Amino acid sequence: MSFCKNCGNKLDEKAVICPKCGMSVQTKEALLDGDNAAMRMLLPVGRSGLAIAAGYVGLLSLVPFVGIIAILLGVFALRDIKAHPEKHGAGRAWFGIIMGGVFSLLYFLMIS
Ligand SMILES: [Zn+2]
Repeated sequence: MSFCKNCGNKLDEKAVICPKCGMSVQTKEALLDGDNAAMRMLLPVGRSGLAIAAGYVGLLSLVPFVGIIAILLGVFALRDIKAHPEKHGAGRAWFGIIMGGVFSLLYFLMIS
């Protein structure tokens, strides 16, 4: 249980603003810990460059064999993010892996 720093009102664990006075109660840590997707959208800092690359290459997976590169970049990005928890971009990495996987499979089915 936490309390509003402004008015002392009892707050819900997950409260973002105090319902009584409207003061923002989100801590600086909460803003930086990566759970705040909106903040990450606005501030693409700390993102793994590999994840960004995987996201873009994932979009190019429509081109034959590019999907394989997207998968590799995505896998490397996930490892990079795991090794450096301060980095973000797992969503983009997975996007690259999934896009690359789906289109590689489609091309494989078309060829065979
Ligand atoms: Zn308050």
